[in-house]
Amino acid sequence: MLVTLTRGADPAAVGRALTARGLWAQRLDGADAPIFWIQPGSQRVARGELLEIPGVAAVAEAASSHPRVDAQPAVVTVGRVPVELGGARPVVMAGPCSIESAEHAHEIAGRLAALGVTFLRGGAFKPRTSPYAFQGHGARALGWLREAADTAGMNVVTELLAVEDAEAVGAAADLVQIGSRSMHMAPLLAAAGRIGKPILLKRGMSATVEEWLGAAEYCLLAGAPAVVFCERGVRSFDPATRNLLDLGAVALLAHAHRLPVVVDPSHAVGRRDLVRPLARAALAAGAAGLLIEVHDAPERALSDGPQALSTRELGALLEEVRS
Ligand code: PEP
Ligand code: MN
Repeated sequence: MLVTLTRGADPAAVGRALTARGLWAQRLDGADAPIFWIQPGSQRVARGELLEIPGVAAVAEAASSHPRVDAQPAVVTVGRVPVELGGARPVVMAGPCSIESAEHAHEIAGRLAALGVTFLRGGAFKPRTSPYAFQGHGARALGWLREAADTAGMNVVTELLAVEDAEAVGAAADLVQIGSRSMHMAPLLAAAGRIGKPILLKRGMSATVEEWLGAAEYCLLAGAPAVVFCERGVRSFDPATRNLLDLGAVALLAHAHRLPVVVDPSHAVGRRDLVRPLARAALAAGAAGLLIEVHDAPERALSDGPQALSTRELGALLEEVRS
């Protein structure tokens, strides 16, 4: 961003006014009147506010490649049981990795609703690292998930993996999840957007923040009313914690871009004993909520058992973060 001054303006006074608004303003002296270059790490201040500073003649901004994301409000309301994401209360989304049966979904939804969890999560389509591992129950699991959530008075968040499933997933979900492995698939992002429901956009495991924002723009452009971002850990050089939970990116989205962002500590770290400290750190960094894998008998889970919390462990965690 470049700030040009009016003839006769006091550059020092303008510089102070810019700095007071949290802007890293570097004065560039040339042949003409001085101008200020606002460095990229600065606070986001509306152009109109800068134009009101005495001595400012013009503010030039490079066009954003994601204008719809930039215009999205920090707080969005999601679900048939309306829940505010980005507001004062952290939103909890929880459930098993995959939907294992109708009975199981009912059982776990009842327990989670009693803990104040407002979104029931669970995958119907589960393409795993190995094609021989459990692949999910497919479309019929969407019905089990929806029924369980309706009975418990909850919303549904579930993943859309293929364009041809958009209608079925759209009918079951209140929040349409795009998985980490799919974040770069523009046709899928567009199909998800066309459903017309809010999207939970997981960060690609090696995606830059700019690529993540670009993916959100695809969803909004295609018709999604809102995008909620979900940080789930990125690939790093060190496999000790499976992934690297990028809380810097969470703080950047929450505090600088003012966008709703939730954190999935379960897939970030892959082991249940570290979910609690990471969940607490995520909320401290500015996350609007948590996506946590929960199972009533993690040792019998059909997928991702080692990272699942029991409902009792989730209850203890929620008590801690709500107090
Ligand atoms: C999930 O949340 O079910 C999932 C598969 O996560 P990710 O896309 O982050 O790996
Ligand atoms: Mn999982």
